[in-house]
Amino acid sequence: MSKVYFASARVKKWTYADSMPGKLERALKEVNLSAHFGKDEWIAVKTHFGSEGSHRVVRPVFLRKVVDALKGIDAKPFVTDTVRIKGLDYLEVANQNGINSLSVGAPVVLGDGLYGNDNIMIKAGEILGEIAVASLIHDVPAMVVCSHVKGHIQAGYAGAIKNVAMGGISSSHRHCGWKCGRGAMHTIGEGRLLWDEEKCTLCLQCEETCPLEGIKFDNEMFGYNEDDCWRCGRCARVCPEGALTLQGDDERFMKALAEAAMSVLSTFKANKVLYINFLTEIQPECDCMPAADVPVMQDQGILISDDIVAIEQATIDLLLNAKPLPQSAADKPERQSGDILFELSKKPYLIQIEEAERLGLGSKHYELIEI
Ligand code: SF4
Ligand code: SF4
Repeated sequence: MSKVYFASARVKKWTYADSMPGKLERALKEVNLSAHFGKDEWIAVKTHFGSEGSHRVVRPVFLRKVVDALKGIDAKPFVTDTVRIKGLDYLEVANQNGINSLSVGAPVVLGDGLYGNDNIMIKAGEILGEIAVASLIHDVPAMVVCSHVKGHIQAGYAGAIKNVAMGGISSSHRHCGWKCGRGAMHTIGEGRLLWDEEKCTLCLQCEETCPLEGIKFDNEMFGYNEDDCWRCGRCARVCPEGALTLQGDDERFMKALAEAAMSVLSTFKANKVLYINFLTEIQPECDCMPAADVPVMQDQGILISDDIVAIEQATIDLLLNAKPLPQSAADKPERQSGDILFELSKKPYLIQIEEAERLGLGSKHYELIEI
């Protein structure tokens, strides 16, 4: 049975030891980092830098605690993420969201280069075939995956599996483009965007949100650069009218996430990846969106494990016990189940975890150890 360490967000004593940074420090001692990582070993601390307007990322103070703990065993950590918008702009987003070398105490670098196409093709499974893993994540011998837990309109739930799957893969490969990148998870076939003129109100939110500035309306008709489009689906997700869609199906998407996570993790030897899930500021959508809504449930705390399936299951079990926060997107009288994230997205997100277990990435059975 896998161990999952839990540091609750609730403060019962007004001491540093009972604060979340203090509990994280203790939890990192408890997991015995030296059992996973060696002296002078380079370690990727993989997080998500967020976006301009989406500020509810893993807070720099927590990344600093992870970096300091790794330095404490004489390892060599650095903080990284893969490119989501133009690389230089993405580093500036990280800076604006407080993630830089001064705040986290280690270099902050891009996992797949300034152009987001520095990657290596790796065998995946029956859905994806092959996939472009960010070269830095492919090459580094060890990783601590720091995931901000939240909802997601397409994935339903976003935690460690999504951080490894989407975050360890590039948007595009220099030869086979989006078909070997994240887009391969998001869509099927040629992944053409479908526009419904009847529903469109010309609000231009899709145009504003495209990271490649690839959408243009000409004479009130939708157009986009299909050759360059990453199939990231962001334009369809922000459309308030459901006028834009990217073809795909939920079950395939969830399974593809698990498959991509498997490909990324296959580049590490056993016991070289640790997962930290931050159940804080749990908002309804991805940190790549142009805004972050108010949290839909109260902060739960921090989980740590070396089993990606166990930590995801433990996270979901905590979220299922949480209450919807007033004045948030989850504050709706017509809610039918106790599953807040499902109510928000109607997506079968548990498939991610079931598929990850089926692929042998870990076990849903865990022992929760409270710090
Ligand atoms: S899917 Fe939409 S937002 Fe994403 S790159 Fe293509 S046009 Fe831009
Ligand atoms: S976001 Fe949707 S409604 Fe707004 S312009 Fe784009 S397609 Fe039309």
